[in-house]
Amino acid sequence: MDHARLADLLFPNVTRTPEDIEALYPPRQLPEGAKVTRFAPSPTGFVHFGGLFPTTIGERLAHQSGGVFYLRIEDTDAKREVEGAAEGLIRTLEHYGIHFDEGAVIGEDGKICDRGIYGPYRQSQRGPIYHVYAKQLVALGKAYPVFTTKEELEAMNAVDKKAEIKAKDWHEDQTAQREAMLRAREITIEEVEKNLAEGNPFVLRILADGDPEKKVPFTDLIKGKLEIPENDEDFVLLKSDGIPTYHFAHAVDDHLMGTTHVIRGEEWLPSLAKHIMLFRYLGFRMPKYMHIAQIMRLDENGNKKKLSKRDMGANMDDYSRMGYAPACVCEYIMTLLNSNYEEWHMQNPDKPYTDFPFNIKKMSNSGCLFDFDKLNDVSKNVISRMSAEEVTALVTAWAKEYDPAFGEQLAKDPAFTTAIFAIGRGGKKPRKDLATWADAKPYMGFFFDPAQTDAYPEQFSSEDIKAALVGFLGGYDPADEMNAWFDKIKAVAREIGYADDMKAYKADPSAFRGSIADVSMFLRVAVTGKLNAPDLYTVMQILGKDETVRRVQSMIDRL
Ligand code: GLU
Repeated sequence: MDHARLADLLFPNVTRTPEDIEALYPPRQLPEGAKVTRFAPSPTGFVHFGGLFPTTIGERLAHQSGGVFYLRIEDTDAKREVEGAAEGLIRTLEHYGIHFDEGAVIGEDGKICDRGIYGPYRQSQRGPIYHVYAKQLVALGKAYPVFTTKEELEAMNAVDKKAEIKAKDWHEDQTAQREAMLRAREITIEEVEKNLAEGNPFVLRILADGDPEKKVPFTDLIKGKLEIPENDEDFVLLKSDGIPTYHFAHAVDDHLMGTTHVIRGEEWLPSLAKHIMLFRYLGFRMPKYMHIAQIMRLDENGNKKKLSKRDMGANMDDYSRMGYAPACVCEYIMTLLNSNYEEWHMQNPDKPYTDFPFNIKKMSNSGCLFDFDKLNDVSKNVISRMSAEEVTALVTAWAKEYDPAFGEQLAKDPAFTTAIFAIGRGGKKPRKDLATWADAKPYMGFFFDPAQTDAYPEQFSSEDIKAALVGFLGGYDPADEMNAWFDKIKAVAREIGYADDMKAYKADPSAFRGSIADVSMFLRVAVTGKLNAPDLYTVMQILGKDETVRRVQSMIDRL
């Protein structure tokens, strides 16, 4: 077979050589050790939690080494593409602080465009580049066409899908496939010419020289040392519409774009043999690979399951709706990514997570467990360290979108709102009431709206409660310092036969009708409507005299 002639027949319009292309993609000028990583999503839907995970790794590895992190859109499957998915993806990632140095970006007109000199960054626009390398492989005798006549194509389209599945009897199928493959390899120039003259489409297949009995050693940066059986499958490089498969496109792109580390899901591990072959055939140096285990979750019975697309917590857009701050989600991802992150964070509470020396070696190779309880814990910690101003701004922005009436209340007097969020903040042990912005209303909504009131526990009589509230109003002076204020409440307790001291009460509860804690609770429910609320003295200070008196009086009237 005259391979050069075959190459010209199949790709008559390709005039450039791989050298011409290489010249357009000069090696990157980066400091020693700098990593070049990419996120390479197919725009088929929303960003999945399991997508943000490897993305964070890529971003960290690139940026902590002074390298480059870029976005490549792998849109070679037009059938699966979802309109607007690529734009949505970029926006979501931006929301989580994932910034790309180059790649596909959203232009001023809201449409995707390229930034950087290693583009185009959408595979759908790189057709001519792939064809140059495809032609080269044919010329080297490492790839060949398999034609389909129009009749065959029609027949294939008409095949009943079920019959197709039935036909997948493993052994029969494999042997038959292998025979068909070996026959296809024998195609002659004459047959090619005839097919082309008839206008028959072809797929381009690699000519595999591997022996699966032989193993290639391969080191995956997460999975460790692997033994990969050589590939003996003539897999498809170009589909009949000339569009490359993932295998072929990623090899060409990662080579030209200078990727040093490929971080991808472990579902690609079985394809690794194909990729090793491709890089060898193309004469490219392979980047390093990290295959990330799937994120798991616990089901109702406590069994580990893959976090699937439909699971709660999978779609990153849900997090915004639920009111999770991006900073909290990122922090949570860091705790999942590196086992020593939490320890580091305790030692460096004020440093951003980007200061953490992220280490591939500290990653779990068996899959992380996604868990809302843990996310909430992390989130509470992160929010407890934010300033009151920051919390005010973020809660207000969230509420304006998802609970507009509450948003308006928060925004009306930002100083008032900030004073509320300042309660219990800043000390060594800050309050941890909020895991999400949606938690704000149940926590502090009473400042704006005391309508909802928890019931007093049944063991207390209305007379006692009333007497305590009336007694409090009799001596209430908002100018009192905290201690003076509390002394007055103690005096009220004594007056109604309640212990003013917890020790005394605990020593002999039967000697009292109740305790100072109960009297405080009577007041708390009257003022906040809640059995549990932040520090009551501060709450009264923020509400001011008139509102405090109004609320206590209103409770007295209702009792
Ligand atoms: N487009 C591929 C995917 O979405 C990318 C895999 C890779 O990062 O190489 O799975």
